[in-house]
Amino acid sequence: MKKFNDPTSPQRGAVCFTFDDYHGENWLKALPLLKKYDAHVTFFIVGEITPEKLSVMKQLRAAGHSVGLHSLLHGDANGPDGVEAYFEKQVKPQLDICNANNFPIRCFAYPNNRHDDVTDPFFFQYFDYLRAGVGKTKPVPVYPVDSLPEKLVLGGSGIGTYYNSEVSLLKEKLAHAAETDTLLVFFSHDIAPGAEHIHMPLEWLEELLQYARSINLRVVGAEDLATI
Ligand SMILES: [Zn+2]
Repeated sequence: MKKFNDPTSPQRGAVCFTFDDYHGENWLKALPLLKKYDAHVTFFIVGEITPEKLSVMKQLRAAGHSVGLHSLLHGDANGPDGVEAYFEKQVKPQLDICNANNFPIRCFAYPNNRHDDVTDPFFFQYFDYLRAGVGKTKPVPVYPVDSLPEKLVLGGSGIGTYYNSEVSLLKEKLAHAAETDTLLVFFSHDIAPGAEHIHMPLEWLEELLQYARSINLRVVGAEDLATI
């Protein structure tokens, strides 16, 4: 396997680590680790945007990370009510508070990764980047980093014991993204030492960030994608 561990060699490929729902306290605790590896990630916020939450969102973005929305009640965007009613009920209340506080939002993660050919164009009216799952309800393309479209669906796969993740296999995916100069996307939720289920163990995150650095793979937030 080719290695890109020469620090003077150009960066190749990119990985977006994304974290969903809301784990403000632990996400803030993970900031020093992310900083240690010059890594940017993306956080997708669920629920009412309270002043406390907004303060955490501001701290995350001030540290260089991307912050997007994940709906008020975690309902499926392609549910029976239709996408317009869904947006009014579950997304607009979050967006309005962010806009009123001069906190621009460009990204949205579909709750339960549910989306379809109706939701994507509708949501692209409001957001540039939509995080979904890889092939959960609809397959998403793999993008070469040098030709990313202005608006795109980021198809992620889950990291955590629930997803049967193995760090060695995750590293192989990172290596593949670097070798093929493509964009790779993952999602998880909380970040904590020894975390299980749908959450990211802090130790895994560090191992992956260390590896990404060793192969000169960019670790970027969704808001960085237009400029890499
Ligand atoms: Zn979620």
